[in-house]
Amino acid sequence: MKFSFQNIEKSFGDLRVIENFNREIDHGELVALVGPSGCGKSTLLHMAAGLEKTSGGSVLADGKAIRGPHPERTLMFQENALYPWLTLEQNVALALEFQRADKRQARELARQWLAKVQLAGFEDYFPNQVSGGMRQRTALARAFISQPKALLLDEPFGALDALTRMTLQDALRQLIREVAPTVLLVTHDVDEALFLADRILVFSPRPAVVLKEFNLSHHEKTHDLSEFAPMRREILGLLGISAAAETHTSEPSIHITEEVAA
Ligand code: ADP
Ligand code: MG
Repeated sequence: MKFSFQNIEKSFGDLRVIENFNREIDHGELVALVGPSGCGKSTLLHMAAGLEKTSGGSVLADGKAIRGPHPERTLMFQENALYPWLTLEQNVALALEFQRADKRQARELARQWLAKVQLAGFEDYFPNQVSGGMRQRTALARAFISQPKALLLDEPFGALDALTRMTLQDALRQLIREVAPTVLLVTHDVDEALFLADRILVFSPRPAVVLKEFNLSHHEKTHDLSEFAPMRREILGLLGISAAAETHTSEPSIHITEEVAA
């Protein structure tokens, strides 16, 4: 699926959130949206999901204006929205049952997709019986089982510890290779963006404008991101976070850093 964001403006009452955002997201591309908290990243994602209207301009999916949610565009966020009273398998199968798939077939597919995220053997567990990482693996299986054309990920691993997060990033990358959806990924983890993205858009504080765009396509990446250290430093710099050794001797950018953390 190809997204076109055309002259996007968004305000909530008097609050200007997004100004003149223009970008094309190509079929099969993974674009990471990075920026200070509250700048409007989730709002952009919600517009692509069809959950939020624009105040000006339009978002197109394959050339057609987005009018509402559609199963071809799947949203996944940090708080796993698994139903606590359903097993992992039932949670994953539900994604297909919503689309009126045959129940038995949905269960069988759910088992297959759980195995792809290393959860074979845990099908009959309930969400509160497994770890947070396993719950997000389940959420990944549920997001991918319907093989969506687009995946909209809002800080999907934000609540996980650093090591678990990396294993989930590996799992996500594997699934992306198999299903090849177009992905918009909101993250405040710069390393996550570097590892997963073909392209990174760095936004300013609200109202959000793109400060800079980084291209990382055609890189075979591992979690050793040392090759990207200069880019990482530049992105952190754009976010007002000191990253270079020499910045320690200059004025600390407390004001900007607080804005980022707000
Ligand atoms: P981010 O995801 O970048 O942290 P959001 O897109 O969630 O930021 O929010 C951007 C700004 O818009 C924030 O100031 C937030 O409070 C505001 N906002 C988001 N959704 C709504 C809403 N439905 N009504 C009013 N204000 C909103
Ligand atoms: Mg957000």
